[in-house]
Amino acid sequence: MIADVANLMNLAPKYGLYIDGKWVPASDGKTFTTYCPATGEKLAECAAATKEDVDAAVKAAQKAFPAWAQTPVEERAKILNKIADAIEANAPRLAMIEAMDKGAPIRETTFIDIPQAYGQFRHFAQLIAGEEDVLVTSVPGTYALQIREPLGVIGQIVPWNFSLMIGSWKIAPALAAGNTIVFKPSSATSLSTLIFAEIIADILPPGVFNVVTGSGSKTGQFILDHPGINKLSFTGSTEIGYTVAKAAAEKIIPATLELGGKSPGIYFDDCNREKALEGVQLGILFNQGQVCAACSRVFIQDTMYDEFVPQIVEKFKRINMGLPWDMNTQMASVIDETQCNKILGYIEGAKKEGAKILCGGKRRMDGEFAKGFYIEPTIIEGTNDMTCAREEIFGPVVVIMKFHTEEEVIAMANDNEYGLCGGVWTQNINRALRVAKAVQSGRIWVNCSTSCANGIAFGGYKKSGLGREISRSALDYYTQVKAIEISMYEGLTPFYTQ
Ligand code: NAD
Repeated sequence: MIADVANLMNLAPKYGLYIDGKWVPASDGKTFTTYCPATGEKLAECAAATKEDVDAAVKAAQKAFPAWAQTPVEERAKILNKIADAIEANAPRLAMIEAMDKGAPIRETTFIDIPQAYGQFRHFAQLIAGEEDVLVTSVPGTYALQIREPLGVIGQIVPWNFSLMIGSWKIAPALAAGNTIVFKPSSATSLSTLIFAEIIADILPPGVFNVVTGSGSKTGQFILDHPGINKLSFTGSTEIGYTVAKAAAEKIIPATLELGGKSPGIYFDDCNREKALEGVQLGILFNQGQVCAACSRVFIQDTMYDEFVPQIVEKFKRINMGLPWDMNTQMASVIDETQCNKILGYIEGAKKEGAKILCGGKRRMDGEFAKGFYIEPTIIEGTNDMTCAREEIFGPVVVIMKFHTEEEVIAMANDNEYGLCGGVWTQNINRALRVAKAVQSGRIWVNCSTSCANGIAFGGYKKSGLGREISRSALDYYTQVKAIEISMYEGLTPFYTQ
């Protein structure tokens, strides 16, 4: 099946690295294989970029930078819109490849990943066209111009959970602001980026966008270490985030870091129960829970706990697990064996710490699931100090806990090193706003979950990262400000002459 689909999709044999507008093999000819996690079948061979290849990509981006930076914003906006159109025109192919590559349900890649990706390009096309240089009146007789200039060559590194979607959060604002890019997808999910490079090849001038595929420890590290990179933008684990931050600090260049999360979902007893149930499900089962923003700690008010918990269990038991390309599938495979074992290890660890498994907890190996990495939707009843409630599991595993008062739940929500997202469910608007303000996270959903609308800032507090994406503020992170002060005053400066 996969081989047929892969052939149909014109997959990888022709793909190498995309450098300076050309497809080239790795300089040492080495490749790596990517597999479909849902079936274990081989998908493609991709080039493993060497230090020389990364150097060639950086040089191409440096060469392309002056002309791209000076391209009028209207023209850049037009190009961004063309990229959006190209993604939209290829949406079914991209949704299928993303589903096969990461093992996620195609209904999610179709309705979330790909529309988010083209939406980002349209959003930044609109924003950049409307940007104005700021004219500031300063002391009498002088005025000042403040202009935003692009930074240069941006090294962008993304994880496997939403390759093209998270890629678009970085590529669109960086290009809009006039930067050029060396981009590395995760070696587990490189294919949507390669198809993206293919479909936009005639839209962008050579060298403006370059793709180097390969492992994090080699290709990724070469990007971090390259002296020609002017900014790093990384999404991934907090562990690798430290490495990226250190590399940026050594070169004194900026870094945007979108890192891990352990977000709280807070359910008060006056919430709309039906919507709240959907919220718990979306919060942890979307993309098999492999979502940085997942509300993986669920706090339920004691006055509704005994009634609500069995309803969640019932809902999780009814989740339709299946192959990614079946439109009825609600949950499919996690990314690979390592991740699968890591998740199962957390579940075992939770049991040893005294937690109760209310449903799920096991890998499915029956029938069509035998060759993939399918984990049942899992509910752990635990406490906030247990490892399963402190660390990011990155799987379909939620830890549920009881609380009594608003103050208590705010303290519990904030008692974690991460601060990416969170959700509050109540029909009391004052309480919703109080809790949203008090929870230390970059994004809080009120009576909704896991949505990432274009234009609304995304990024973390605490160990969840630095910087913001998706919104206007992303442009600030891809530019630097130059202030030009101009005097119209004919006389000498009074301060010196008196
Ligand atoms: P990861 O940190 O292992 O890898 C992320 C990327 O970094 C990959 O492309 C990888 O090849 C590369 N990499 C690894 N080692 C590197 C090194 N030494 N130098 C340079 N690059 C290196 O993360 P992952 O397992 O791919 O993704 C899961 C993690 O990503 C989770 O922790 C999740 O929370 C996080 N994430 C965060 C966000 C966010 O916006 N905050 C979004 C999605 C995922």
